[in-house]
Amino acid sequence: MIERIDAKLRRGERLDLDDARCLLDDAPLLEIGALANEVRRERHPGGVVTYVVDTNLNYTNLCDAYCSFCAFYRPHTSTADDAYTHTVDDMMTQIARAQAMGCTTVLMQGGLNPDLPLDYYLAMVRETRARFPGMTPHYWSAPEIYEMAKVSGLGYRQVFEALWDAGQRTLPGGGAEILTNEQRRRISPLKMDADEWIAVHRAAQRVGFRGTATMMYGHGESVDDRVEHFQRVRDLQDEAGGFYAFVPWSFAPGGTPLGRKLGGLRAQANDYLRIIAAARLFFDNVDHIDASWFSEGKKTGQVALHFGADDFGGTLFDENVMQEAGHYVRTSVEEMRTMIREAGFTPAQRNTHYEVLEVFDGAPLPA
Ligand code: SF4
Repeated sequence: MIERIDAKLRRGERLDLDDARCLLDDAPLLEIGALANEVRRERHPGGVVTYVVDTNLNYTNLCDAYCSFCAFYRPHTSTADDAYTHTVDDMMTQIARAQAMGCTTVLMQGGLNPDLPLDYYLAMVRETRARFPGMTPHYWSAPEIYEMAKVSGLGYRQVFEALWDAGQRTLPGGGAEILTNEQRRRISPLKMDADEWIAVHRAAQRVGFRGTATMMYGHGESVDDRVEHFQRVRDLQDEAGGFYAFVPWSFAPGGTPLGRKLGGLRAQANDYLRIIAAARLFFDNVDHIDASWFSEGKKTGQVALHFGADDFGGTLFDENVMQEAGHYVRTSVEEMRTMIREAGFTPAQRNTHYEVLEVFDGAPLPA
């Protein structure tokens, strides 16, 4: 089977769903890794691995979706000490700190808080653009867009037009988990289904937004579910072409009802490397495959760079969502560069649009 996939790739043919199933199921890991590495080197010659200096801020942890895999949220009616919704001004103070740390991107996400009007989100974008012109507001996942549409009574397109007018240009790919309606009903029955996630990103891309597609795996889904997820992402990319990258990570079970049900087990590195390699081979229409030093550990992230990934993700200075699930890991810009160099590549800082800002073999890129 792997020979068939190899031959197809050499003829420049697109892989089909049977190929994806083979890659995601039982094809020899090291062989698909070597193939993915070869394809990655063809698509991204020069041995450069990019990263972005960013932070992940949360504006509210109040949420009415109660996803079984989430340790971050507090019920939306909660008045507990650790339940919060920050004002726009509070968030600007946090962004000022991020700017002082050298961030070029702020990823901002929160719970689905039905008490927040659309104006709150628009003001967040507008104020960010006005006060921090060098900072990219990479805000809100698809479920938050769904919430904005719900509270405002507007369609997705109108919400995106309003966000665009406020100054937003990119949309993070969070909230995808596994894009099958059946699996989403099992793990997050109150949250938007797979069709809606696709509809949100389709609307975003039609307005002109670019972004990423993510996948959270390792919570009891089947290989066929993963194949369907791959298919839906590739199909939308064929149609609208707005995904810069595909970013997978494993479910962090700590402190979650779903984690307890699954016995606290977390997917292993071999599973991660298989998904990275399969993604590089299957997504002939997505430029970048992101390795994650953050979610899978620094060493696994480095190995993923030899399994088809060409990007090392962000510095994520303030990540709290996975931290609530007992997953704590931090880095610095210097360590990011060192990890990339140690893995045998040249580090390069990029922006949210995956444009290289500076290559760290010494000299800055010419203007
Ligand atoms: S994953 Fe998001 S939508 Fe689901 S409960 Fe957590 S904060 Fe709410």
